Amino acid sequence: MKKDRPKIPYVDVARQHAPLKRDLLAAVEQVLDQGAFILGPQVAEFEAQFAQLVQVPHAIGVNSGADAMILALRALGIGPGDEVITAVNSFVASASCVALVGAKPVLADVGHDYNIAPAAAAAAITPRTRAIIPVHLTGRPADMDAIMALARKHNLFVIEDAAQSVAAQYRGQPVGSFGDVNAFSLHPLKTLNACGDGGVATTRSAALAEKIQLLRNLGLKTRENCVEWSSNSRLDTLQAAMLLVKLRHLEAWTEQRRANARFYRARLAGVAGVQLPDDPPHLRSVYHTFVVQVDRREKLRDFLLARGVGTQVHYPNPIHLQDCAKELGCKLGDFPVAEAQAKRILSLPVYPELTEAELETVASGVREFFGA
Ligand SMILES: *Cc1c(COP(=O)(O)O)cnc(C)c1O
Repeated sequence: MKKDRPKIPYVDVARQHAPLKRDLLAAVEQVLDQGAFILGPQVAEFEAQFAQLVQVPHAIGVNSGADAMILALRALGIGPGDEVITAVNSFVASASCVALVGAKPVLADVGHDYNIAPAAAAAAITPRTRAIIPVHLTGRPADMDAIMALARKHNLFVIEDAAQSVAAQYRGQPVGSFGDVNAFSLHPLKTLNACGDGGVATTRSAALAEKIQLLRNLGLKTRENCVEWSSNSRLDTLQAAMLLVKLRHLEAWTEQRRANARFYRARLAGVAGVQLPDDPPHLRSVYHTFVVQVDRREKLRDFLLARGVGTQVHYPNPIHLQDCAKELGCKLGDFPVAEAQAKRILSLPVYPELTEAELETVASGVREFFGA
């Protein structure tokens, strides 16, 4: 028997699109009429607006967050024989991009903020280390003061994995503006989402920006002159046109995500068995996910689902325990913080279109489960 979709699904992109449909379709129609589907003017306009948002001189639209990471590594000349440190609890792409350029992903444990622990990153440095990839997981900025200091001390590149954190800020500075080259995802389930795949690389360096523009376009310097083997990793004009519509709403959506997080924090404060994410004032977290840690997680998920509330787990299996990571030679017990969190983390729905009544249904479901 097919289960009904929960009344409050964990994600609901259709709700986001319903009020935008007229504007999105108009943007699509304009591209159809103009016919420039590959690197059309909307791509350049989107890149300019995105660069302004991140407060960097250069943003390059690409076809996914994963490719933004791969092109960042390639542009920095990282490859075979090199090591790159990243967070063990991230989405697997944070490490697979390193393996795909022929370098070795070196995993590091995380802190209570779900981000790479600077001490763990420092302990992972070897003479082969070339770069560190801090991930702003859940939309919460990593400890960039510590990470940038570590990178300076050991002469390492920094590549921010900002896939989950468009519009997040660390001490008032946008994420994606700290590292040498940084990567954003525009996947449909991210906070600034294309209607398909998309991504952005950001950098302060004109030379690196030029390199990435080349690498995303098959290494073509001109139509006739190919200077380097590369992939086709371009952002579609159609996606850029729709993203320009969505960018106008990003600030309001982000504020609503933050307000939803405040609602949960207020309603779930002091509930025994629930650990809430804190929200220190030097960070602007954008709550791609609202992650709590709970006892008896699977029972709670069933309990909430019976009340029509969908939840998710990001992510149940840390990277070192994935089949693809066998060659790294890690084992259970190597990353105790991430492993313990993986058993307890639960993502509650936090998208901006949730009504207050729905937020209350979620919160009171959690409270009731824990007898609060
Ligand atoms: C989504 C995501 C990616 C990959 O982005 P895609 O656009 O899906 O390729 C990389 N890192 C993190 C942390 C992500 O959440």
